[in-house]
Amino acid sequence: MGNSRARIDVLIVGGGIAGLWLLDELHRCGYATLLITKGNLGQGQSIAAQGIIHGGTKYFGETSVADLAAMPERWRASLAGDTGPDLSTASPLATAMQMWLPPQLGGGLLAGFSQKAMRGRMREAPKDTWPNCVAGATGGHLFELDEIVVDVPAILTALHAAHADRIRQIPDDCAFEVTSNGRQGAVIGIDDYEIETQFFVFAAGAGNDELLRGAGMKQLQGQSRPLHQVMISGMKTPLYIHCVGKNPKPLATITSYPDGQGRHFWYVGGLLAEQGIEQTPDALIRTAKQELARLLPGADFTGTGWATHAVNRAEPAHRGGLRPTSATAKSFGSGIVAWPTKLALAPVLADKVLEILRQAELEPGPHELGGLVDLPRPAIARPPWQEVGQWS
Ligand SMILES: Cc1cc2nc3c(=O)[nH]c(=O)nc-3n(C[C@H](O)[C@H](O)[C@H](O)COP(=O)(O)OP(=O)(O)OC[C@H]3O[C@@H](n4cnc5c(N)ncnc54)[C@H](O)[C@@H]3O)c2cc1C
Repeated sequence: MGNSRARIDVLIVGGGIAGLWLLDELHRCGYATLLITKGNLGQGQSIAAQGIIHGGTKYFGETSVADLAAMPERWRASLAGDTGPDLSTASPLATAMQMWLPPQLGGGLLAGFSQKAMRGRMREAPKDTWPNCVAGATGGHLFELDEIVVDVPAILTALHAAHADRIRQIPDDCAFEVTSNGRQGAVIGIDDYEIETQFFVFAAGAGNDELLRGAGMKQLQGQSRPLHQVMISGMKTPLYIHCVGKNPKPLATITSYPDGQGRHFWYVGGLLAEQGIEQTPDALIRTAKQELARLLPGADFTGTGWATHAVNRAEPAHRGGLRPTSATAKSFGSGIVAWPTKLALAPVLADKVLEILRQAELEPGPHELGGLVDLPRPAIARPPWQEVGQWS
């Protein structure tokens, strides 16, 4: 028996977007919920995300993702404070992503894009509105997409502020043990603490695999898809753009973040980051400089600094290692493992977890946090561009 026993309805393990969004939803439903996390909030994937709330448009030849289609509107409602979670303090960085088709692209592709444009999810931008980095191009097409870009640190801060009393940090080296797990609830041991909970949810991103193994659930596993992002400091203007080529994936996807001194960090993902996993940081920076000069001939990189950030996307295991099509929540006894697959899909994931709890007819019960209230409160993780020691 530990020296402190807590009793709650739901324990969430992991403080990224998945755990925090779920915490908000369960709290609003009246469940006594506690979120525990290692490290800082958003550490791992969420703080490294580009923040694009994709709308599931088939512009890159992907299978349409039905769940994504509702996400821009869902997030807009939260960002406006019209529905929970209230994210009204987290102004979006951009209200639309742009998509740039360089002049050398074939007419077939353009016809596909135009069809989409007619369906209202994207519209061609008049040439006099083009950003400097493409304005001088002879030919090419620029579209505006129904994709907002959220300020991830601000989102994490808003969720943390709303629920600070229900969020605690556990030590990196703590002994985490599911000491019993049945349909009637579970007992979780964390060092000297014992938590009696009706349900527990693993929402720990890359940490889910180890938690599942510890809970004896070897048959449930995740997969990891690595990325090697490029970061550029000192850009004069922000840019939110997908640069498209003949590959079904965007060649480079650029989002931006203000540096607080009138300049911007550019954060570059897309195919460049997927293929960059084979490259050293120096080699990837060389490739990125060439590729971005080719794709965005008018971009001014004078006085900029360059760095890279390697990070894995953690998802539920999927056929052939391909990207899963939506958020996943799977239950085992009183446990649930959850992967959003995309930051944008955090609301869908929360709904799926809630559905499992409703089917189990979970009712709010007596609760007390006991000595767990004395655990430290985590900080918000710092984005990768604020962690760079040396820009090259
Ligand atoms: C470079 C990059 C760009 C991306 N861009 C986008 C985008 O533009 N749009 C989009 O929709 N999606 C994007 N994604 C995907 C998105 O970031 C992820 O799907 C999402 O952030 C996953 O959230 P999560 O909460 O599941 O995991 P994470 O954010 O990884 O959070 C997991 C949390 O659990 C904690 N933890 C880990 N192990 C344990 C443990 N044993 N015990 C307790 N706590 C633990 C971690 O410290 C962390 O706080 C991107 C991903 C990457 C890597």
